[in-house]
Amino acid sequence: MNLVLFGPPGAGKGTQAKLLMEHRSLPQLSTGDMLRRAITEGTELGRNAKAIMDRGDLVSDDIVIGIVAERLNQPDCASGAVFDGFPRTIAQAEALDRLLQSLGKKIDLAIELKVNDEVLIERSANRVKEMIAAGQNPRADDTPETLRNRLDVYYRNTAPLIAYYRNQGKLKTVHGMAPIPEVTKSIAALLDGAS
Ligand code: ADP
Repeated sequence: MNLVLFGPPGAGKGTQAKLLMEHRSLPQLSTGDMLRRAITEGTELGRNAKAIMDRGDLVSDDIVIGIVAERLNQPDCASGAVFDGFPRTIAQAEALDRLLQSLGKKIDLAIELKVNDEVLIERSANRVKEMIAAGQNPRADDTPETLRNRLDVYYRNTAPLIAYYRNQGKLKTVHGMAPIPEVTKSIAALLDGAS
C-alpha cells in the first residue's frame, strides 16, 4: 500500500505516519525529515535547503523529487510507503505517479488531514514551548511569522492536491482536530477499506 498523507503544517502528518510505521510496517517517507537530516549532516543539499526551509518556502521540486526517487529504490519500500510532506505541489504529485508507475506501483490512497489555522498556530506555539522545556532547540521554522508563510505556501501550492487526488478517486479527508488516537483510528478504517 502506498499512501500519501497531506495537510497544513502541524496537522499531525508526522505523528500519524510514525504510528502507521509501527502498526503497519510501512516506512515513513518524510521529505522534511530527510532535508533536516541533510542540514544536520552539512551536505551540499542541506546547505542549499537551509535558508529556504528557515523561511518556510518550498525546496525546489527537482531536489525533493530526486531524494524521493532515490529513497524509493531502497528495499524497505518494496511493499509500500507512507509519503509524509510529499508531494507538496502538483508537479511533485505528477512526478510521484510517474515514478511509482515505472516501478509497477501506484498511490492507493491520499489522505488529507484537515485542521483549522487557529489550532495549527496554537499547536506550533505549544511545540516550541515543549521543546524548550525539554532542553531541545525548537525548529527554526516554528516562529509565528514563518508559520504564517508556511500556511500561505500550503494553501497556494499544496491544497490543489485535494482536487488532483479527488479526480483520481483517491482522496479521503480526515478531521485532524480529533485526539491523536481517534485520528489514527479513522486512518486505519480507511486503509482497511482500501485493501
Ligand atoms: P511541516 O509539514 O510541519 O511544514 P515538514 O517537515 O514536512 O513540516 O517540512 C518542513 C520544510 O521542509 C517545509 O517548509 C519545506 O521548506 C521543506 N520541504 C519538506 N518537504 C518538501 C517538499 N515535498 N517540497 C518542497 N519543500 C519541502
